[in-house]
Amino acid sequence: MYHHSDLKRFFYCPRLFWSYNREPRESFRRFVRMDRSISDCLVEKLGITNAFTAVKGIDVTAVLHAMETHDWILKGRFEADGLRVKIPAIRKVENGWDVYFTYMGNLPKADDVRFYANHCWVLARQGIQINEIRIVHFNHHYVKEETLDLNACLMVSEVFYKPNGQAHVNITQKVKEKMRDLKPALDAMFAVDAWEDYPITLEECPYTVRCDHYEKCFYADDPMPDHSVVFLTQASRRQEMIEMGIQRLSDIPLDMIEGTRIQFAQIMADRLGGLFADRNALNHWLNQTKSGPVSFLDFEWDTYALPPYQGMRPFDVLPFQYSLHVLEDGVLRHMEFLGTQDCRLGFIENLLKELPEEGTVYAYNAMGAEAIRLKELARQFPQYADKLEAIILRMRDLAEPFIAGSVYDLKMRGNFSLKKIIQAINPDLSYSQLSIQHGMEAVYQYREMEDSEDEDDGQSKKELLEYCSMDTYAMVEIYRWLISLVGQKETPIDENEIQ
Ligand code: SF4
Repeated sequence: MYHHSDLKRFFYCPRLFWSYNREPRESFRRFVRMDRSISDCLVEKLGITNAFTAVKGIDVTAVLHAMETHDWILKGRFEADGLRVKIPAIRKVENGWDVYFTYMGNLPKADDVRFYANHCWVLARQGIQINEIRIVHFNHHYVKEETLDLNACLMVSEVFYKPNGQAHVNITQKVKEKMRDLKPALDAMFAVDAWEDYPITLEECPYTVRCDHYEKCFYADDPMPDHSVVFLTQASRRQEMIEMGIQRLSDIPLDMIEGTRIQFAQIMADRLGGLFADRNALNHWLNQTKSGPVSFLDFEWDTYALPPYQGMRPFDVLPFQYSLHVLEDGVLRHMEFLGTQDCRLGFIENLLKELPEEGTVYAYNAMGAEAIRLKELARQFPQYADKLEAIILRMRDLAEPFIAGSVYDLKMRGNFSLKKIIQAINPDLSYSQLSIQHGMEAVYQYREMEDSEDEDDGQSKKELLEYCSMDTYAMVEIYRWLISLVGQKETPIDENEIQ
């Protein structure tokens, strides 16, 4: 029996489907926090009564049987030709059943129509007459007041929306139009899954972009070298190069690349023995650092589908932690904050107290992360808006020199994340020794700490603080490395002063 995620994987690449089915499964953890069950929300929003609620592993015949005596079926499991799906809610109407899907976002888009159509195909295959199809989604205009008004927070849509928010096309019509016979694909899935091995050549790989199984498929016994052409970024002809037998970055004919600055940096790094640095560009960039202390700032936050506190909207985030390293007169100081529950005011007030009032504030991917968080806090707490917006004006993105192609080390392997860069320039400063190694692990740890009976969960706090402080310390190291590359004089750091 397969689920819709298996079908999706199979359509993406049969080899991926085959391989995934032989790998250990990780337990599912939500990226976005949802503090009430979707079914509870549907019951309240849709005024559901006389409902049968199915449970995991239920026999489909029990659900079909319940349809005879109930007006609503919640979380109903249905199967056809080996595909098992879960439908959030269906409602008995005069000429069949209305189908309700849920969308974990603000406006449902027609891009996801295949998902809905495949689920409806299973219903139709079971002989269920589909009447109207609707999607329950979140209202991005809703702002929580003292209590949550679920009716205002959720909306029921009969249309898909365009990215600009305009109503686009009727859901029922579009989904019915896209329903197709999945039996041939399901038969093929069973056949492929029975194979003992699934050898594949590069020519058969359906994606010219890098798939996360690329190493497993083609370099399982022999890890890809850092100079591999596979790591060339923004390259529409990468697959063609591989098929032509071009293996290393320095062998790429220049007429096969788009000619971006990053590509140039990558090819030059291979030609120069591993490192490329455009010292003029780096010098110019570093010289824009404002006078005064240099700050390095990193936030951790959780995202909530249902706004938990006053002033928040659906999918707003709540920053619960920051780490701040400040470099001033050769002394490196460290400060941090970690809160629980509604810690927004504590977060803001501590940050304003500890962040120097002048000098550049570096963050990694600053405009896509920390600056957005500060803008959200400014909207929610207008009394601090001026001060928070003033921080944004002093912010600079430490990722800029890498994204601009001013510097590249082959060990970055085409990846410009903070962790990959620090691993390339200072392997001793590794996240691997920490209990938490990724941003999402920090979020899960934070959720556990909040839910813990132990109010003072010392171990979780320690691990969260270590992780966040590693991010800002890594930024300090990167900043110092960039300075050393251009031969600028760096104020020596008194390591004994690091707190
Ligand atoms: S690397 Fe290519 S062949 Fe391998 S799973 Fe990904 S898409 Fe399929």
